[in-house]
Amino acid sequence: MVVSGKPPYDESNIFARILRSEIPCNKIFEDDFALAFHDIRPQAPVHALVIPKGPYVSFADFGANAPAELIFGFSRAVAHVAKILGVEETGYRLIANMGWDSHQEVPHYHVHILGGRKLGVMLAPIEP
Ligand code: AMP
Repeated sequence: MVVSGKPPYDESNIFARILRSEIPCNKIFEDDFALAFHDIRPQAPVHALVIPKGPYVSFADFGANAPAELIFGFSRAVAHVAKILGVEETGYRLIANMGWDSHQEVPHYHVHILGGRKLGVMLAPIEP
């Protein structure tokens, strides 16, 4: 289901449940600010998700409302996860879907880290 990316935050969303350890994830990294795990339906040899430890629906919500310490710590965590996944040398793509047009499905802010192969152009060309 595609979501709006706007508050209110739904405490029952799947990533909230992963953060509360109610359901498992294939964990890569965790610190005070972020949890990183492998995407359940990978779209590249490396496909990780990094989520902040806080109730933010999307980048819009996080960027506007999260405390500076969390924004800083989360950014650091994303870069660290890419490094430990071994894609810093070869390159990687970050994706943060927000709302209807982006096809955001999970209403907890998350950054996709994609890499491990040549990813091609950023978006498919627009059909004529
Ligand atoms: P988005 O469209 O940006 O909201 O992406 C949500 C992502 O979460 C998709 O790539 C899903 O494959 C992934 N996903 C959904 N449920 C899980 C889960 N339980 N564990 C890991 N990844 C998941």
